[in-house]
Amino acid sequence: MQTLSFSYIISVFRMGEVTTVEREDYMAMALAEAEKALLTGDVPVGCVVTDRAGHVIGRGRNRREERKNAVRHAEIEAIEEACAAVGSWRLDGCALYVTLEPCPMCAGAILNARIPTVVYGAKEPVSGSCGSVINLFEERYGFRPAIYGGVLAGQCAQLLQRFFAGLRKKEQL
Ligand SMILES: [Zn+2]
Repeated sequence: MQTLSFSYIISVFRMGEVTTVEREDYMAMALAEAEKALLTGDVPVGCVVTDRAGHVIGRGRNRREERKNAVRHAEIEAIEEACAAVGSWRLDGCALYVTLEPCPMCAGAILNARIPTVVYGAKEPVSGSCGSVINLFEERYGFRPAIYGGVLAGQCAQLLQRFFAGLRKKEQL
């Protein structure tokens, strides 16, 4: 009789619902990516993409300033890396964790990559497209990811507040 390996059992377990604690763990990884954006003077937003088994297959951070490029958002980077890892444009069974509510461009990228689960931290009142300005994931696009907002929202928002407070201080000098 074949015995099931521990990792197999874990991967079967992982196919089910991701727990709140796990969501926070992945969000903490996205936060670590966001902190790296501070080094280049970029608004600190970070993102990770996990596969069906819960492995991180994509990481990204906002690099708009670093790259002088309007589309270098954290989600785009993480999706690009995940697609390369999977070898496909489809990210079936994957989950995306991002520290800030996605903008319309990134919501579009999530839909195009068919990512079924989206978890975000802080709300974004100016361009947030998971309900703040519009909820693009409730429109009739033929694909509707499950959205979980507010995960580690306090920490995600605090990092942004610290960044903008620092900017204001610089402007006053
Ligand atoms: Zn975006």
